[in-house]
Amino acid sequence: MTDLSATASVTDRLSGTAEAAGPATDPIVQFLDRHQPETPCLVVDLAVVRERYRQLRSALPDGRICYAVKANPTPEVVGELVALGASFDVASPGEIDLCLALGAAPEDISYGNTIKKRRDVARAHAQGVRMFATDSEPDLRVLAEEAPGARVFCRVLVDNTGSRTPFGKKFGCSPERAAALLRLAGELGLDPWGVSFHSGSQQLDPAAWEHGIAAARRVFDAEPGLRMVNLGGGLPAAYTDQAPPLADYARRIEESLTRHFGDRRPELLVEPGRHLVGDAGVLRSEVVLVSESDEHRWVYLDIGRYNGLAETEGEAITYRLRTDRDGDPTGPVVLAGPTCDGDDVLYQRTRYELPVTLRGGDRVDLLSAGAYTASYSSVSFNGFAPLPTYCVDGDERR
Ligand SMILES: *Cc1c(COP(=O)(O)O)cnc(C)c1O
Repeated sequence: MTDLSATASVTDRLSGTAEAAGPATDPIVQFLDRHQPETPCLVVDLAVVRERYRQLRSALPDGRICYAVKANPTPEVVGELVALGASFDVASPGEIDLCLALGAAPEDISYGNTIKKRRDVARAHAQGVRMFATDSEPDLRVLAEEAPGARVFCRVLVDNTGSRTPFGKKFGCSPERAAALLRLAGELGLDPWGVSFHSGSQQLDPAAWEHGIAAARRVFDAEPGLRMVNLGGGLPAAYTDQAPPLADYARRIEESLTRHFGDRRPELLVEPGRHLVGDAGVLRSEVVLVSESDEHRWVYLDIGRYNGLAETEGEAITYRLRTDRDGDPTGPVVLAGPTCDGDDVLYQRTRYELPVTLRGGDRVDLLSAGAYTASYSSVSFNGFAPLPTYCVDGDERR
């Protein structure tokens, strides 16, 4: 068996941040070597999740960490975060049930989706959930009726420049509108708590939080009595782009908080998804076919857009790759998935080079693939099964 760990350091040096450069991937390689699971599959190292959580805890000591469950809802991952004392950002009854079943307290669950059915709000409230996001009057009125007295925060729309996967305009309102909604919340018997925003996922500019923190200040000025700022998600994982270290984000966030709030510091929430789980996962795939067209060498993997790599849409997220044949001469490739769908192409504009010796049956590992992969996998498009997830715990092996 080829020693994959020997090539890991080469790939890691080529890309990714120093701090995020494939820490403790060895337990994952050991697992893959020992069990030889069918591919494609995702293997998550819980020790890395733990490490990321603790790093964030010390970088933002007074921030309440609400893990965005959608990034990776694997029960072992959520259970690990329950044990670490995390809170949870959820978007649906299914995510609430998952967190509760794994031991989360209902008061540690924040219903962060601004788009909710009335019956789902009522159900969450009956289960004890008391934190809710909103950004519109109809939703706010539903909250007042179905979750009376609950804490409500209003999401503002902020500039997502610098994000690899921006949110567009789907969520959030202006600071002026947020202030009006939060005033109405109080009139309707809810607890107007504060302001949230999301700077865009895989946000590569640590200064991006300034927009949201400044907007929150405007809302606080217009509506006295507010006391919480929710910094959202957006912290990065290590893909081929160079993401700054966590300390840079923490410093810029601190500077913005000081600039806009001084010593009247609000309660802080932060909702990391990708940052806690991305670097913890390795996705193992197999080369199905390598073929040469007139212009390109096509490498078709058994993983694609529909069974886990949804975030390759628009080539937004560019995973680091590791192969059995690293060290051999390389050449440019177009990477594609296994289905009969013409959109199931992973990278054709982004330049990827792979060993010229690569052929069907070889393994290709996608690194830092722990976020938004298995959770985005289709049920079984074209007969390809959803992506299975295995968990290891690197701390237990040391
Ligand atoms: C998805 C989501 C997050 C997590 O975003 P990341 O970029 O993965 O950190 C946080 N908050 C809300 C409201 C979300 O929808």
